[in-house]
Amino acid sequence: MYSTTSAGLDAGTLREQLMGAVTVPGDAGWDAARQAWNLAVDQRPVAVAEPETVADVVAVVNFARERGLRVAAQGTGHAASALAEASLHDTILLKTHRMRVVEIDPDSRRARAQAGALWADVVGPASEHGLAALAGSSHDVGVVGYCLGGGLSWLARKHGLAANSVAAVQVVTADGRVVVADAHHDADLFWALRGGGGNFGIVTAIELELYPVDELYAGMLAFPVERAAEILRAWREWVRTVPDEATSVGRILHLPPFEEIPAPLRGRSFVVVEMAYLGDEAAASELLAPLRALHPVMDTFAAATPADLLALHMDPPSPVPGVGDGTLLDVLPGEALDALVAVSGADTPLLSVELRHLGGALARPRAGAGALATLEEDFALFAVGIAPHPEAAAAVKAALDAVAGAVCEWDAGRRYLNFTESAVDTRRAYSAPAYRRLRAVKTLVDPDNLFRANHPIAPID
Ligand SMILES: Cc1cc2nc3c(=O)[nH]c(=O)nc-3n(C[C@H](O)[C@H](O)[C@H](O)COP(=O)(O)OP(=O)(O)OC[C@H]3O[C@@H](n4cnc5c(N)ncnc54)[C@H](O)[C@@H]3O)c2cc1C
Repeated sequence: MYSTTSAGLDAGTLREQLMGAVTVPGDAGWDAARQAWNLAVDQRPVAVAEPETVADVVAVVNFARERGLRVAAQGTGHAASALAEASLHDTILLKTHRMRVVEIDPDSRRARAQAGALWADVVGPASEHGLAALAGSSHDVGVVGYCLGGGLSWLARKHGLAANSVAAVQVVTADGRVVVADAHHDADLFWALRGGGGNFGIVTAIELELYPVDELYAGMLAFPVERAAEILRAWREWVRTVPDEATSVGRILHLPPFEEIPAPLRGRSFVVVEMAYLGDEAAASELLAPLRALHPVMDTFAAATPADLLALHMDPPSPVPGVGDGTLLDVLPGEALDALVAVSGADTPLLSVELRHLGGALARPRAGAGALATLEEDFALFAVGIAPHPEAAAAVKAALDAVAGAVCEWDAGRRYLNFTESAVDTRRAYSAPAYRRLRAVKTLVDPDNLFRANHPIAPID
């Protein structure tokens, strides 16, 4: 019998099969190997594998299966908190960061990214061809993890969830095969991967549709945080009037006094409206006029390239310890905004409380869509705070509870898993038929539950 404890794990056997690295507790570099992007998360797997090739990934999957271990894929560890909530004592953490090759084909308007690619690896090169990927707000979120979970981009209201612009996925399956799932091959698996998360295999590469962008105008308007209720109410009225070409965020920001934050913002609080608009300056100015009439203290709107969008949301430039969570809201009456503002004042430990405007293409199912075809709610709420130590984490968690409590009356009850950083019942993320089908696909492709996702979907018993 093989041993399944880290003390007895025959790591040397796996090491011999890999171009990449295998680290187990007690090895030099163990703490660095098990570290997630979110520095507040303490991951204690049985081993960490850092494959460099598809064959390496196959070797890890076979090794784990033969020993009754499980495998959890991790691109960056942005979404590691839910994964680490349960014990990883029987799990090999498979970190894909050494597999970062990206190819852009401007003719077919496709990008092919290896599993460890970050959005910056795709967005910059695509932007040079006037093409946009449906990237998230952060440069160093993983392309694969983001797309498997849905993917809410700055072009979301025009082009829908990023998962539904995935053209093909190369996956290592539970039985150690390498398959390329697309609309014509392994169609059920392809459907499940697009929104069903990391439950169905280890993705080794992903192919994405890119969109031509002729004109783009983007930026933010910032106002004193004391005007939060007034500005968020005005934004809520304004989003009812905007076309699908406009995707915007209304947020309260309490910026820490960190050097990497631009001087005019550092250590200060604001209520902010950010927007990306697929159109020219004249049309954008007309659109923005009602908000500019409210006299922002800062207006950064300007013509932009798709690559510029990675800086718009001012996400952290490098790993941080954070605790965050989010939900979906059906409607957003003025009293909901007032309640949100009341718990997001100067005394909150939260860094950001944001509302993303949904609707448009996000609410329209696209032919051939995946497991997460749409987000039908009107707004996504996400709040986050910095948590460098357990006391700070407890304070941030209490503040997140206060935010959830403030809007519970308008909570749609459904979750968007990319904005869910705690372990939840994954049924809440899908329609009942989609969830049943996800479990059926899981049972077919991974009956023994080898793959462990941060948001698990179990096979049928
Ligand atoms: C600063 C910040 C900004 C963000 N901005 C946005 C945004 O604009 N829009 C949005 O929709 N989301 C956003 N997110 C959420 C983000 O999309 C999720 O956290 C996503 O899961 C991150 O993917 P990752 O690969 O970087 O993280 P990881 O924690 O590495 O992966 C998350 C999960 O994806 C699965 N996974 C990853 N790689 C593989 C693989 N190769 N094979 C199989 N499964 C895999 C696993 O189940 C894993 O647990 C943001 C998060 C942060 C922290």
